Parts: sequence; C-alpha cells; structure tokens
Amino acid sequence: MTKINLKDLTYEELLSAIRELGEPKFRAEQIFKWLYKGAVSFDDMKNIPKTLKEKLMTDYCISKPEIAERLISNIDGTRKYLLRLSDGNYIETVLMKYKHGYTICVSSQVGCAMGCAFCASTRNGKIRNLSAGEIIDQIITVQNDIGERISNIVMMGIGEPLDNFDNVLKFLKNVNDERGLGIGHRHITVSTCGLVHNIIRLADMKLQITLSISLHATNDKTRSEIMPVNRRYNIEELLNACDYYIKQTNRRISFEYTLISGVNDNRTEAVSLGKLLKNKLCHVNLIPVNSVKETGFVKSDREKIEEFQKTVEDFGISATIRREMGSDINAACGQLRNKHINEG
Ligand code: SAH
Repeated sequence: MTKINLKDLTYEELLSAIRELGEPKFRAEQIFKWLYKGAVSFDDMKNIPKTLKEKLMTDYCISKPEIAERLISNIDGTRKYLLRLSDGNYIETVLMKYKHGYTICVSSQVGCAMGCAFCASTRNGKIRNLSAGEIIDQIITVQNDIGERISNIVMMGIGEPLDNFDNVLKFLKNVNDERGLGIGHRHITVSTCGLVHNIIRLADMKLQITLSISLHATNDKTRSEIMPVNRRYNIEELLNACDYYIKQTNRRISFEYTLISGVNDNRTEAVSLGKLLKNKLCHVNLIPVNSVKETGFVKSDREKIEEFQKTVEDFGISATIRREMGSDINAACGQLRNKHINEG
C-alpha cells in the first residue's frame, strides 16, 4: 500500500487520523505545525513521542522534493527552482522579490493538457496532477532554502489549476490555515486559461482570492488558434463566467494579455479589448510574450506595447505592462523542465 503524504491532509483530516490512533487532539496541532514549519521527516518533530511517530510511519509519509537545479538571476535576484518529486517527475517554481516581500509562482500539474501555442509547459502534454501537498511543498521548500517567509502566491507555474480543481481547493484551504502557513487568500492569485465550468464552481465558493484570466485575444478565431480551450468555451461564455465571478465574490478580475508580434497586438485588437472589458471590475496585465524556441512567436516592440496599453486605458480600464523578471535565467515557466526532459 502506498503511504499517504501527511501534507495532503487538511487539519481536520489529520485530526481524525490522530483520533483513530487513540491520541489526543493537541498532537494533531503539533504535527500540523511541524509540517508547515518545514519538517522533512518524523525525526524533525521534536515534541512528538516516538511511539506516535512509529504508529504514523506505518500509513503515512512526509514528502520532500529535491532541489535538482537552482538558478539565480544576476539582474533582479529572481530564483528559479527545478524540483524533483518523489516519483521522479520534475516541476518548476519561481521566487520573485518585490519591495513588499516575496512572491512565489507555483506549478499545479506535471506538464499541462491545455495546448496553448505559445506556452512551453504544455509541449509534452500533461503527465499528472500535483497533490495539494506537492503544491504546498514548493512554498515550504523555497522558504527553507532562503530562510525567509513568503507572503504572496501566484498559481502561474506549470499546469492549469482549474484542471486540478479539488487538489487546488485543498491547497488553498491548507495554505490559509493559521496553524500552517497562514497566507491570506487576498495574497493568492489563481490563473486560468478559461475552464468556465470550474470558474463558476469557484465563484460559488466566494473565496477572496484573485482570479486571473489568460485572455490573449479578443476574437474567437485568433483565440481558438492560440488557445485550444477556446473551442470548448468561447470568449462570450468566458466573459459571462467572469461577470458571474465578480457578482459572487465582488473581487476584481485580472486579465492577462500576452502580446505576440503580428498575432494579437494591433490597434484594432486593443480597441476590441477595451470594448470587451469596459465597465468590468477588472485590471489588464500586458505581457510581452516570452519567446519559446519551438513556437516561433516574437515579442511586440516596446513602443507597440505602450501604444496598446494607452488604447486600453482610454476605455477607463487600468492596464499595466508586466515587468520581466529573471530574463537571464529563462524564468518563463516550463522551459527549464523541458530542457531537462529533452537533454535528460
Ligand atoms: N494555465 C494557467 C496558468 C499557467 S500559465 C493559465 O493559462 O492561466 C501563466 C500565464 O503565463 C498565463 O497567462 C499564460 O498564458 C502565460 N504564458 C504562457 N506561456 C507564455 C509565454 N511564452 N510568454 C508569455 N506568457 C506566457
């Protein structure tokens, strides 16, 4: 029987496991705290009796991803980690330092099934979902590595979070738990390419997270060409789901728009974007596309990007151009893992 990773349990699940072993409630709290303080083995749990540890070891384990590679940008200190999971798969995690603290960009799957044409993470398809504990582990591992606390999380690494809905929800619960990392939902962004059925489910949960929508085009023809998910849920359905999300949560949605030269960056498209998003509680993030060797897509000129921004802003929409972090270490997600898979 494969053992259950303790970090895959919510506090309540851990508590019922501890009760089943005939142990008092406070042990659950002690163990939960150890896990999130970065314990990587039962030995690390100093105030837990040996007898209880031995009982736990029969059915449970504590995951510990290995740092296979760590790249540190000379430009801005951004760190990119290639992590090796217990089954030998690799994922990427990126740490960025801002004035207000550290932001971590976590992966939610090994690979991705969504097939976006410009994205490196999806090139070899999806291998499997990450468990809640494996998503949490990225934060714990990086915190242990730098010896500091991380304050903000973006789910913009490898994978489509809403294609791994249950585990991502459990992750959001655990990361928020005061006994664990205690990171508030307002400090967490979940990014999706537009899985409408799960945007609606998420809306009904009324969490205070920030939802980020990868829009990247303003008409169905272009969007379907670069994002296959659009053939399943078109722009109209996606934007209706966004309106519902805003209505349910009262949270501002962030729309990501990756600018690709000659594909989606002309003035007509900026005007269409303005029209589509006018009067919505939203913000637009313009991202110069990160060239991925195999895709052939090229960044728009800076001037063009600024012009695009101005056109969108003229509709009364706030729009920023994403600062590129760690450009010297290939920080765009998926590229390090691909290099590793291909060069073995
Ligand atoms: N699957 C989710 C989250 C992961 S991708 C989503 O689609 O939102 C995080 C963001 O990076 C998305 O907006 C995605 O479209 C964007 N992205 C992917 N590849 C990129 C590239 N080569 N250049 C710029 N942005 C990219």
